[in-house]
Amino acid sequence: MNVLVYGSGQLARMMYLAGSPLNINIQAVDVATDQIINPVTKRDLKISLASAIESADVLTVEFEHVPEHLLEQAEQSGKLAPNMRSILVGADRVREKQLLAETNILNCEHEIITDVAQLEGITDRLGEQIIFKSSRDGYDGYGQWRIVNAAGLTDIHAVFQNLDLQKIPVIAEKMCPFDRELSLVGSVDKEGNIALYPLAQNTHFEGQLHVSVAPAPEINAELQTQATAIFSTLAKHMNYVGTLAVELFQIGDKLLVNELAPRVHNSGHWSMQGADTCQFENHLRAICGLPLGDTNAQKISAMVNIIGVSSFAKDLIGIPGVHLHWYGKEVREKRKMGHINVTADSYAQLAEKFEQLAEFLPMQFFPRLLTQANKLKKI
Ligand code: ATP
Ligand code: MG
Repeated sequence: MNVLVYGSGQLARMMYLAGSPLNINIQAVDVATDQIINPVTKRDLKISLASAIESADVLTVEFEHVPEHLLEQAEQSGKLAPNMRSILVGADRVREKQLLAETNILNCEHEIITDVAQLEGITDRLGEQIIFKSSRDGYDGYGQWRIVNAAGLTDIHAVFQNLDLQKIPVIAEKMCPFDRELSLVGSVDKEGNIALYPLAQNTHFEGQLHVSVAPAPEINAELQTQATAIFSTLAKHMNYVGTLAVELFQIGDKLLVNELAPRVHNSGHWSMQGADTCQFENHLRAICGLPLGDTNAQKISAMVNIIGVSSFAKDLIGIPGVHLHWYGKEVREKRKMGHINVTADSYAQLAEKFEQLAEFLPMQFFPRLLTQANKLKKI
């Protein structure tokens, strides 16, 4: 099988690595240049986009921010999975909020801002703590502004005056006082069968994911039922095929949806070592019409993002259950360079391994690792 992936970053790379044993050959489209490249070697394959589409059995995406004309061309080929509508829901927070409203799924209280005048009195309606999110092209906390009191609106006003809010609206969202962040990653095959990974517990720092632990501790049957229902409702509604991620906020015993990612997801990377079949392989199985693999956690697992740093003591892979995944990118501040997967027999042992890791790592780049270790010890 030949699969063409729109986007040529680490997610396409990890799809390539998962696809090889299945004889699934992956080519990637650099969506800025339309070049077709090998996502591991980054070698330009010197073929046109049209002929790559022609020779592919399936087209898919590694991220949702693919220019719309390319998505249209892909959809027209009849080979795109997930479908264009699902990708656009992930790419556009206005569509995402519409979908959540149509399906009656809880999410944070919000307003869609298409005119600066709507900022008037907004803190009376949503409260003083508001997060403003551009409806398009945001990721890793980019395209977001936060205020903690009404005085902060002055700056927001100044920024928004220079935006075309009619064209790209901003979502003003009440800051949710969540207890924790979770995500549910799962794969849906062409017959609509769903294979869900266990819920992951996610820790962010400055709007970026730093640590995921899976299975998330302290998930009772009621929470799992809610999460499963949210996932299957969304998958059915979108007629989804492939791996899908749903980011959730837990408040008490309720789950609210933060956002959807119509693709493999950073909070599912633990599955490369922690599950029988990783999210990348299951994505490929789903879109290629193959049976889905087992998604159960084999161990207690964690994924620790390597952000903004490109080297440290390699010996850390000497810690049993620790695996390094570099993405082969040039270092930049706040850039995801790779991740470390850790597996353990218990949460307490996972905490110990985090502490061992800390001895090898430049800790200013891993600001959440030891706080997570302390929390895991208390479970
Ligand atoms: P990513 O691409 O990393 O998923 P993103 O840029 O798409 O991020 P969001 O997921 O919407 O943006 O927000 C990033 C993080 O900011 C969330 O994971 C959460 O920690 C925090 N956040 C977002 N919205 C809210 C909210 N309404 N209340 C509280 N925290 C929020
Ligand atoms: Mg997010």
